[in-house]
Amino acid sequence: MAPLWGSRHGRPGGRGEDGRRRRGAYAPRRRAGAREVRKDQATTVTGGDGGATGAEVDTGGPSRQSAQGVTVSRPLTVVTGGSRGIGAATCVRLASDGHDLVLGYASDEGAAARTAAAVREAGARCVTVRADTSSEEDVERLFDSAAPLGRVTGLVNNAGVTGPLGRLADASADVLRRVVDVNLLGYLLCCRRAARDMAAHGSGSIVNVSSAAATLGSPGEYVHYAATKAAVDALTVGLSKELGPDGVRVNAVAPGVIETGMHAAMGDPDRPAKAAATRIPLGRPGQDFEIAAAVSWLLSPEAAYATGTVLRVSGGL
Ligand code: NAP
Repeated sequence: MAPLWGSRHGRPGGRGEDGRRRRGAYAPRRRAGAREVRKDQATTVTGGDGGATGAEVDTGGPSRQSAQGVTVSRPLTVVTGGSRGIGAATCVRLASDGHDLVLGYASDEGAAARTAAAVREAGARCVTVRADTSSEEDVERLFDSAAPLGRVTGLVNNAGVTGPLGRLADASADVLRRVVDVNLLGYLLCCRRAARDMAAHGSGSIVNVSSAAATLGSPGEYVHYAATKAAVDALTVGLSKELGPDGVRVNAVAPGVIETGMHAAMGDPDRPAKAAATRIPLGRPGQDFEIAAAVSWLLSPEAAYATGTVLRVSGGL
């Protein structure tokens, strides 16, 4: 079902997740096949069921009144590591689900531009921002760049690195520091900024991309990476409890072995095929769009009662 967005609406009786009454009595759902038409960077929902006249869906983005008198605004989501792999697939999926996007990346400007083009092709607005998530200054600039598009309603914390495959005994301190800086400090910095912005508005949704490694430990491959992902799971649970009363949901997706460029970067491009043959119960690696679907669901009102959960999407691993 096509989602309506944000976290404070979509509940009969006009109450938000925090139980407080919101403007408008009811946020109607879009009928399957409902079509969005973009005009002057605003969105009109056409072909839907309509609903109570004057109902409002407030996601902080640009808004327009439909023929049915329903004001619909678009969610605006920051995706870190949106240029390639799972992040890129997530950007495209979110765009087709009605999100505008702030696409963060580290250095691959060409990949960021290609993903942004696919996002715009899907009818969404998109800004690309080169920002190292381990840098406090860059993270602040990443979120500040959203201002021309509206208020940030969602964060997908996805940018991650592993360093070379191997045993901990053979890892350099530089690699350990970098993995912790990007995978943990980076997630904390992005969560902190999102928490400040979203709590101030009483709504929002964060999805942290974790890993099945968090519970497997990944001996002989990258226990340091696994440790950062276990920390991400703890961050997800703790922050969900902190922000629940503020109307902000925090969840995680824990992928198994997914076919992206990450495996070549860690030194074994054939790793997904080897894992499929030896240890993935479903007998194949996952695809980036299968993770994107889980992320999009957790951001959607369909998941309005889900917070503090780590959703494992790993083929049984
Ligand atoms: P990927 O294909 O290697 O892409 C990594 C993305 O992160 C790129 O967009 C990259 O930007 C960006 N990035 C890296 N370091 C960054 C930094 N310091 N600041 C900002 N952006 C940075 O990786 P992936 O496989 O899609 O993984 C995405 C997430 O899923 C990671 O958190 C990873 O741990 C997790 N995960 C992956 C798998 C898997 O099997 N692939 C399994 C479990 C969990 P550039 O393009 O500019 O380099």
